[in-house]
Amino acid sequence: MMTPPNASETALTLTLAPEDRLYEGKAKIIYKTPDPQVLLAYFKDDATAFNAQKKGAIAAKGEMNCQIASHLFRYLENQAIATHFIEQVTPTVMKVQTVAIIPLEVVVRNRAAGSLCKQTGLELGTVLPFPLVEFYLKNDALGDPLLTPERLTLLNLATPEELATLRGLALQINSLLTHFFQDCGITLVDFKLEFGRDTTGKILLADEISPDTCRLWNQAETDPQRRVMDKDRFRHDLGEIAAAYAQVMQRVLAQTV
Ligand code: ADP
Ligand code: MG
Repeated sequence: MMTPPNASETALTLTLAPEDRLYEGKAKIIYKTPDPQVLLAYFKDDATAFNAQKKGAIAAKGEMNCQIASHLFRYLENQAIATHFIEQVTPTVMKVQTVAIIPLEVVVRNRAAGSLCKQTGLELGTVLPFPLVEFYLKNDALGDPLLTPERLTLLNLATPEELATLRGLALQINSLLTHFFQDCGITLVDFKLEFGRDTTGKILLADEISPDTCRLWNQAETDPQRRVMDKDRFRHDLGEIAAAYAQVMQRVLAQTV
């Protein structure tokens, strides 16, 4: 019997079998594929905040974050940033390149918000004189602590050369995303990135970029609560969470990349 040329491949890529599940995080489930270099990331509607002390779900978040992240990865790839993104295979599933995740959360801040305000007393929204790059240890049990440069060296999670690369990439991505969101009428306040190494040791941008991992302020609003278009709506019970994510998605997808 004749088999359509791509039937088996399509079936394999679209089937998320429980036995293929590699690991489940707070926002995504990662599945293996027949190709060890390729993984599938299924985006869940689950939402967590404050180191998973607050839990809930946001209607259609998985689909919205998968679409937003896919589009932003396409944009960054076209701007010569190496990412793990291969393609979006269903509304909630992204095909990515397997990497060994470096257990660091690389945060870039353009304005003061969140823990930066809490720990420094800077007023919410203060424009920083330079983009602040911070490294946090990706470890839920330890509460993702902010690392000092010496603690970074001590932990040896990345070589000094790799740390310099991560910092440079974070700043480059910040400048690209700031311009992208500016064209959407959105201020990129801050965001978190994760990077990994492929089998050759090359560093790729991994994980996701979405309203779960960015602070995004609607430039058409001045009210400090109404302007929030990101997970802070969930963290601080501001309501209209899904509507805010949908607005981000609509504006992001409207940009040609
Ligand atoms: P978390 O609860 O740690 O935030 P997520 O649900 O966001 O987890 O994502 C699931 C896991 O997938 C995370 O550990 C993340 O680092 C990992 N991950 C993301 N992209 C890749 C990739 N390309 N290869 C391997 N692991 C990845
Ligand atoms: Mg995550």
